[in-house]
Amino acid sequence: MDTHEEKQLESLGAFEISDRLITLAKEKTKQPFFNAGRGNPNWVNARARLAFNRLVEFGLTYEQSDDPDLVMVPTTNMTDAFLRFLTSSKTDQFLLQALLYTEKTFSASKEAILQEWVQAVLGDNYPVPSRVLPISGQIIATYLDQVLLKDPALIKDTLVFPTEGGTAAIVYIFQTLKENFLLQKGDKIAMNTPIFTPYLQIPKLEEYELVEIDIDAKESEQWQFDPSELDKLLDPAIKAFFIVNPSNPGAKAFSKAALEKLQQILTQRPDLMILTDDVYGPFVEEFQSVYAIAPHNTLLVYSYSKLFGATGWRLGVIAAHKQNVFDQLLQNLSPEQKQSLHKRYEIVTTTPESFAFLDRIGADSRSVGLYHTSGLSTPQQIMEVLFSLTHLLHAKDDAYVTDARQLIATRYHDLMHALQLAEDEDPLNTKYYTLIDVYRLAKRQYGAPFANYLQEAFEPIDFLLRLAQTEGVILMDGVGFGTKAGEVRISQANLATETYAKVGKRILDVLDNYYTQYKKNH
Ligand SMILES: *Cc1c(COP(=O)(O)O)cnc(C)c1O
Repeated sequence: MDTHEEKQLESLGAFEISDRLITLAKEKTKQPFFNAGRGNPNWVNARARLAFNRLVEFGLTYEQSDDPDLVMVPTTNMTDAFLRFLTSSKTDQFLLQALLYTEKTFSASKEAILQEWVQAVLGDNYPVPSRVLPISGQIIATYLDQVLLKDPALIKDTLVFPTEGGTAAIVYIFQTLKENFLLQKGDKIAMNTPIFTPYLQIPKLEEYELVEIDIDAKESEQWQFDPSELDKLLDPAIKAFFIVNPSNPGAKAFSKAALEKLQQILTQRPDLMILTDDVYGPFVEEFQSVYAIAPHNTLLVYSYSKLFGATGWRLGVIAAHKQNVFDQLLQNLSPEQKQSLHKRYEIVTTTPESFAFLDRIGADSRSVGLYHTSGLSTPQQIMEVLFSLTHLLHAKDDAYVTDARQLIATRYHDLMHALQLAEDEDPLNTKYYTLIDVYRLAKRQYGAPFANYLQEAFEPIDFLLRLAQTEGVILMDGVGFGTKAGEVRISQANLATETYAKVGKRILDVLDNYYTQYKKNH
C-alpha cells in the first residue's frame, strides 16, 4: 500500500480500518490471524442462557396439544406446574431461586412473575407496557444499582428503558435530545477523551453539528484525567457532558476525587445534562457511577454485551431518575418550541407537556407513529432479567463476575509481560483494553533516532498494516478514539488467553522488522 492509499485508509473510522486490516491479514499471512483489537468478549454467561431455554421449554409443554407445532400460550395457573417441571439440575435450581428472590424482593406473586416471564420468552405479544415489562423493570433497576450505583435508595426512583444494545441507547438519546431542542446545532458538548468512537462521530453528523470540548486523559497520567479538567464544565455554553466510565479505550474509572469535583461543579451547573455509559462498570470492584452522585442530571446507559458475552443478543438499557433535569429543561423551552413538541407527541398522549423525557425517547425510537409497537422484544427483556438475576442471587460473591475480571487480568498480565511494560495495578483499571504507544515502544527498543525515523518515514497506519500482513495480528487504531497518532488499542476480551503473549511478541517482532530496514538505510 502506498502513502496515498494509507492516508485514505486513515480517514476511515477505527472499526472500518479494523475490517480492512482483517481482510489484509486473511490474504497475506499463512498463520492463523488474531483480532486483538475488537472488544467483543470470547466468553459467555451459560447459566442465564440455559435458564432462558428452560423457560421456553416450560412455556411450550405446559398445555396439552394434539398438534405439537401449534400450542396454546399459557395464561393462568402456571405456578404448580412450573414447580413440578423443575428438576434438581443447577439451571432449574437457579430458576427456582430466581423466582423466590423476585417474589420476596418485589412483593409479586409467583404466578404474576411466571406469567410475565413465560409469555415474554415465547414472544407472543408486543411489549406492554412498551417501555419495560413491570416486574422485569424492577429487576433490571436493582441489578444496575448493585453493580453501578451501590445506593439502594435510588432503586425505587430509577426508571429503565431496555434497548437494542447500548448502541440503540446512544442513538436514541442523541435523537431525542435533538428533537426536543435540548441539543441544537452549534451547542457545545463535553466528553471524556479518548472515548468510544461513536461519541466523537455522531456529534459531527450534519443533523447534529455539535461542538466538542475534550476532558482529556493522558497516557502520562495512566489515562486518568486531572479533576481540574472538569472546570471546563463551568462554561454555561456547555449543554451536556458525555461520559464513558470506566473509559474506553483508556479503561479507567473516574477517581473519587473526580466524582467529588463533578458534584461540586453541579452546584454551579444544576442545568448540565449528563449521559454516562457505564458498560464496563462491573469490571471495577469499587465502581461508582456518575449517576449515583448526580441522579437528577444523568441518563445512565448500560449494556449486557461485555460482562455476559452477549453482543449478538443486543441487550442495553437506559436508566433515568423520576425527577430529572431533562424534564425540567423541557419546561423552560420557548412557547414556539413547546407548541411544536405538543404537535409531535399529541398523537400518543393527551398531555404532551408532561410527557416524560424517558417516554419521549421511547416514542422517538419508533418515529412517534409506531410508539404502540415500541419497546425491546420481550425475549430480550427476559434475557436481561436472567443475566441480572445471576448477579442478584450472589450479590457479594458472584464467582462469574470475579472469574471474568480474573480472565482479562491474566491476559493483560501476559500481554504486558511480553511487551516488557509495567502493569497498571490501579483498582480503577478495568484491564479490558490496553493502549500502547508504538513510538514510545520503538524508542525503548532501539533508541530515539529510530523512533523518529518510524514517525517520519511512515504513515502511523503503516505499523498496523504491517502487523496485520506479516504477523496476522489486528489491533485498533487509537486515533479514531481521540488519541494521538501511534496509540493502538488492544482488547483483552477477544482472544484465547494463551494468545496474548504471542500478540505482545509479534508487536515487538514488527518493530524489529522496521529496525532492520532502518539499519540498511542508515
Ligand atoms: C461495546 C460498547 C457499547 C456497545 O454496546 P452494545 O450493547 O453492544 O451495543 C457501548 N458503549 C461502550 C463504551 C462500549 O464499549
